[in-house]
Amino acid sequence: MEFEVSPLPYRVSALEPWISARTVEFHYEKHHKGYLKKLRDRIEGTERANQSLEALIRTERGSLYDNAAQVWNHDFYWRSMKPTDRICDPKPVVRSALVDRFGSLDGFRKEFADAANGEFGSGWAWLVRNPDGKLEVLNSSDAENPLQRGQTPLLTIDVWEHAYYLDYQNERSRYVDGFVEHLLNWDLVADNL
Ligand code: MN
Repeated sequence: MEFEVSPLPYRVSALEPWISARTVEFHYEKHHKGYLKKLRDRIEGTERANQSLEALIRTERGSLYDNAAQVWNHDFYWRSMKPTDRICDPKPVVRSALVDRFGSLDGFRKEFADAANGEFGSGWAWLVRNPDGKLEVLNSSDAENPLQRGQTPLLTIDVWEHAYYLDYQNERSRYVDGFVEHLLNWDLVADNL
């Protein structure tokens, strides 16, 4: 297959004031597309070029895995957020699943934010569905993607410094707060639940 980066699902300024247009533009154009370029350079002309991105994530290791996962992770990250003028409440099925597991929506927000702030270095925090159907919040280092462990991602936040440094410098928790309080795309959770 031909690997592509999906178009951004909104304008670069759509996440302001929580994430600036400048951050979104750099992050998407330089970082996200940069991982795609590195992936293409690695697999062009090889039999791996015929596999799906998900197949590469499930089977590869090393830098090929890292770049494939980062292409997938960023696409999922952009879709994990909604423009600030299109925010809506979680559908009943999402609300009840999160309340059952985390006690309340705020309970989920807190656990997700704690995972994001608690990732020591570069990485991601995730809401996933385990193979047994149970929801779980976890974090991962570098490019690590839950698909590799048989889990289904429902939502993610990028906590590499490039995701927030232009806007918040070292204050990751302010970026995380803006994300969990103002940008969450509950519809993505519903689509994957
Ligand atoms: Mn990133």
